[in-house]
Amino acid sequence: MSDNGFEVEFFENVDEAKKKILEDIQINQDIGIGGSMTVHDIKLYTELKNRGNKIYWHWLVDSKDKNKERQKASRADVYICSTNSITEDGKLINIDGVGNRVASMFYGHEKIIIIAGVNKIHKDEKDAIKRIKDIACPQNAKRLNLDTPCRHTGKCNDCNSPHRMCRVTVTIERNPMQSNIKIYLINKELGY
Ligand code: SF4
Repeated sequence: MSDNGFEVEFFENVDEAKKKILEDIQINQDIGIGGSMTVHDIKLYTELKNRGNKIYWHWLVDSKDKNKERQKASRADVYICSTNSITEDGKLINIDGVGNRVASMFYGHEKIIIIAGVNKIHKDEKDAIKRIKDIACPQNAKRLNLDTPCRHTGKCNDCNSPHRMCRVTVTIERNPMQSNIKIYLINKELGY
């Protein structure tokens, strides 16, 4: 990954990673967060909020306010999310329904913090997309109560459902020229 221009740091556990992330973010920086079970489960946002960082995360607001919150997150100093996949040759592969998360992963922030468990490492782009569609999408469909075929069968059939989550697929091959992406890789299974 570092050969592709990303800054990468490896951590044995979540607490070590969180300690470093809290050091790497200034208290006066505001923070946008993308949809992520990993970020949710490690409860980083509570610690950021308690110490005074302003946080914009659409998962924390009412349905009617979600889009405004996504817009505020897209303009924040720091953006935090996970990645659907990291390939063995160090590319980031992501699929989104709205597209706010993937857009913020490659432009518009002073710093982009990507937190990922080692379970997100996949062989290549083809393997990554298959796993996203066969593992992440069915679980997301259940979590969000979406009526997609993958929710019911556990397999993708390239659906035409109005609830289809797979609308934007982004491969970040190298750290983009105007971005500062750092990957915090944790030796643990996190998210899906
Ligand atoms: S294209 Fe449709 S069926 Fe396939 S993973 Fe995406 S939402 Fe599920």
